[in-house]
Amino acid sequence: MHESCGVCGVYAPNEDVARLTFFALFALQHRGQESAGIATTDGKRLQVYAKMGLVSQVFSEESLSRLTGDIAIGHNRYSTRGSSRAINVQPIVVGKGSNTMAIAHNGNIINAEHLYAELCDQGYTFKTSTDTEVIANLIISSPEKEWVDKIRYAMRRLQGAYSLVIMTNHSLFAVRDPFGVRPLCLGGIDSGWAIASESCALDHIGANFVREVEPGEIISISDSGLDSYRGETSRRALCIFEYIYFARPDSVINGQLLYPARQAMGARLSEEYPVGADLVMGVPDSATAAGVGYAFKSGIPLGEGLIKNRYVGRTFIEPDQRIRDLGVKLKFNPLSQMLDNKRMVVIDDSIVRGTTTPQVVRLLKKAGAKQVHMRICAPPIRYPCFFGVDMATRQELIAAHKTVDEVRDFIGADSLGYLSIDGLIKAVALPKDVFCLACFTGDYPIPVQLEMDKLALEGMSAGR
Ligand code: SF4
Repeated sequence: MHESCGVCGVYAPNEDVARLTFFALFALQHRGQESAGIATTDGKRLQVYAKMGLVSQVFSEESLSRLTGDIAIGHNRYSTRGSSRAINVQPIVVGKGSNTMAIAHNGNIINAEHLYAELCDQGYTFKTSTDTEVIANLIISSPEKEWVDKIRYAMRRLQGAYSLVIMTNHSLFAVRDPFGVRPLCLGGIDSGWAIASESCALDHIGANFVREVEPGEIISISDSGLDSYRGETSRRALCIFEYIYFARPDSVINGQLLYPARQAMGARLSEEYPVGADLVMGVPDSATAAGVGYAFKSGIPLGEGLIKNRYVGRTFIEPDQRIRDLGVKLKFNPLSQMLDNKRMVVIDDSIVRGTTTPQVVRLLKKAGAKQVHMRICAPPIRYPCFFGVDMATRQELIAAHKTVDEVRDFIGADSLGYLSIDGLIKAVALPKDVFCLACFTGDYPIPVQLEMDKLALEGMSAGR
């Protein structure tokens, strides 16, 4: 399961804004590995450099040094297969003359097809197949004069998830949808401001975390200072997977460091599904903290059973079928001596299609584990996501059509326990109505048509 996209922005006259943005993107690499890009402005023109690849593959000393100016925005992209094309890299630039802007987007616009048709009827043309360009053209099409009013005009029409950074020749904007599905935060640096999907990016560039961009808020930063424009919000719906898996454990969301929240998920799993075992391990890296929590609460020793090859990522070298068949072996190497004849409790973040977990269980058993008891931080995922998470169709979701016992048999584990929704909410220690839990409950924060499932995966691609 992939979340899709990291965004960041820097407003700092007299600083090397492109370089700061580069390091912020580096810290957000986990949110998207398909393409990376930076746009800057010197007050007269917008320049963009964006390509397919990891941040370190895309930028060189030379490309960074050509991105001059006082303001920059950046983007890391993960996209669905059909939209994995160089044409869809971000940031994208739209407009003419003083009505020009660059934009980078994390999220998914549910009514993008409808807005796209409307904008085409008005004569707007599109260079990409992303919903981000729909947002951009909607803003540009606004009859309003001020940028803030143009963005507000677009926000009134947009449905779905969007955390945006927008740059004009003189201003930087941070925009978050009224539900706050994706995170976005504000930081201060010596001579300016920084915006990032996650606070870990602010830490890496020496920015102080100031606060989160509120759901429905527009923050505008220019030479006249920082202004905030709050919009109305009916309810909040932060994606719970930011807590379980997407965001880095050293990021702070809703005032909470994620590492201890994940530890608490493991501790809750231990209370809900105790089992006699010799060793607890979290599947690295996403379930490492939850493994620590389970071990601490249960009193079962914590160990490591799999070593992750951290550099496998997205290589852009297509593996042939024989190498593809290696599956998780490309990613994990088991520590046979640690596993030999052991009853293992293995914590993982989630089971989506059920393609990876059976391979993990097989790998551990083949390496000598006597028993494998799987414990999963996410409750059973029964409904697809329409808010930018590349998950699966309903038919592909294993928990949508198998009972927990059937999933246990399918993955080959000796026992299986999914954290309950209540247990998860207690672990994150925030009210339930702050979150989107739709992939567990089917209760979407805004109405979605089920046929969106197909559109979201095969039609117009999300900005992500
Ligand atoms: S449906 Fe699930 S994955 Fe999608 S935003 Fe809601 S909680 Fe996150």
